[in-house]
Amino acid sequence: MEYKKLVGLYNSIEATSKRLEKTYLVAEFLKKTDIDDIPKIMLLLQGRVFPPFDERTLGVATRMVIKALNKSLGIDADAIEREWKRTGDLGITAENLAEKKKQMALFTTKVMVSKVFTNLRKLAEMEGSGTVDRKVSLISELLTSASPDEARYIIRTVLEDLRVGIGEGVLRDAIVWAFFEDSIHINYDTESKSIKPENRELYNAYVEAVQEAFDILNDFAEIAMLAKTSGLKGLKAVGVVVGKPLKVMLYKKVKDIEEAFESVGKPAAFEYKYDGFRIQVHKKDGKITVFTRRLEEVTAQFPEVVEYIKKNVKASSFILDAECVGYDVKSKKYLPFQSISQRIKRKHDIQEMSDKFPVEVNVFDILNYEGKSVIKSPFRERRALIEKIVSPLPYSIIPAKQIVTSDLDEAKRFYDAALKAGEEGVMAKNLDGIYKPGSRVGYGVKVKPVMESLDLVIVAAEWGEGKRSGWLTSFSLACYDPDTGSFMEIGKVGTGVKEKVELGVSFEQLTELLKPVIIKEKGRDVTVKPMVVVEVNFEEIQKSPTYSSGYALRFPRVIRIREDRSPDECSDLALVQDLYSTQRSR
Ligand code: AMP
Repeated sequence: MEYKKLVGLYNSIEATSKRLEKTYLVAEFLKKTDIDDIPKIMLLLQGRVFPPFDERTLGVATRMVIKALNKSLGIDADAIEREWKRTGDLGITAENLAEKKKQMALFTTKVMVSKVFTNLRKLAEMEGSGTVDRKVSLISELLTSASPDEARYIIRTVLEDLRVGIGEGVLRDAIVWAFFEDSIHINYDTESKSIKPENRELYNAYVEAVQEAFDILNDFAEIAMLAKTSGLKGLKAVGVVVGKPLKVMLYKKVKDIEEAFESVGKPAAFEYKYDGFRIQVHKKDGKITVFTRRLEEVTAQFPEVVEYIKKNVKASSFILDAECVGYDVKSKKYLPFQSISQRIKRKHDIQEMSDKFPVEVNVFDILNYEGKSVIKSPFRERRALIEKIVSPLPYSIIPAKQIVTSDLDEAKRFYDAALKAGEEGVMAKNLDGIYKPGSRVGYGVKVKPVMESLDLVIVAAEWGEGKRSGWLTSFSLACYDPDTGSFMEIGKVGTGVKEKVELGVSFEQLTELLKPVIIKEKGRDVTVKPMVVVEVNFEEIQKSPTYSSGYALRFPRVIRIREDRSPDECSDLALVQDLYSTQRSR
């Protein structure tokens, strides 16, 4: 397929804010796409060439793009820099410059989707000497034959900053519309941009089937292929496979223990809510792999966890869901998440880190046992399995501390004990609940005393002035809108604060993290790729026309950087709305 066609789709998606119209555009496009191109299109629509759990990145810095533009268009670097300063966007810069060149030359070779895809994938594989030059060549090869608007999207994709406004919801529904239209007759009305499925229940069942398969596989490219080649049966057959990380189940917050019982029923399991970071541990054929909740592999960073699993879990194949908590080597007191968070990204001095900041593994769920998926088994059975296979060894590995009770006072006492032990609170779980990857369905809830914080992503910042001119000092925070895949601003932190933004997070730290992901600069304002997630406390949520989310935070404070969360896992608009309305009713 010609890349031009995909660019046409990008343009029309960008031109509408209507979710159903976007879905329709993508679905119609997929219907006409050759089977070989379907996975590539699904990925490129998300601005990527690898599925989200794949750690490979393209590693293209803005200066490489400038070199590539220089090489392909024969325009000198200063002129490119000037145009970039003027537009503030390298994609648009590429488009404008290519437009100028267009008047001089005619494009003879067509850019094909497969070529873009292959060259981009090659970018991720390059390492060693001469990498920059080879990367520049791969990009300029594409640009040489690209039309102006193709150039814009190539550059945005290369910089991993596509921003056309497609979220998971649109892709999921588009798969249903494209491949199951014959069974469900969606009846999209192009005038009113609405749908009237013949059978709403059936339609919802298909949407759910795609969603469920996605929550396990995490890859729309694979799901689209499954839907096309094996239909509903294929989607339903998607199982939990050891070695392949799946999305974790999430938990809603409730006000207190009474509400916890209301939500999960009686009797309920109560567990300590450990304040650490979540891991998914896979074991198969003697090999142990540890993933974060972002599904990134961190096996090498946690050698002691691998040891504990090897020695203290008696089964040959499984997937465990667990929380790693740091503790002080001397006092054996549990430490808050921040103390061990540095271990997640660490690539060197691993043994030293493990000796200094050891973790205890608290196993609270099991998703696969001896090759069989157990996510549909009731929680009581999954817990029994954990108790059967985990030999507890405090400060190494233990099943999460748990009681099962119908008694309010007993549950409250357990909650108090958890807080006393320095934990965040408790989880309450429905004993018959299944494990629903990726969803906050209410089979489990959390109770903690502090007001819910939000995990927000930094989308923009400002350079400081005077003494602080080398640092970014003000940060714009945004929540996630899963429908459009975009980030909606909800507030700013930092302005006027002296040294620290807040507790443990300094300007320096944030500047270091954000500098490499700056994508636009105009005066003191910079736009950054939405990558850095921070946990934010606040006094209150207010309605506000100032920010795109329609809400603003009163007195936001950044309390920590969440290395373990990806931007699309940060708090979504629905959660903000939810918090806004519950704070009102109090
Ligand atoms: P929150 O991060 O506040 O949404 O709370 C949910 C998180 O608590 C989960 O993602 C886990 O990382 C963590 N957690 C700690 N202890 C448990 C437990 N016993 N069961 C489930 N999750 C737990």
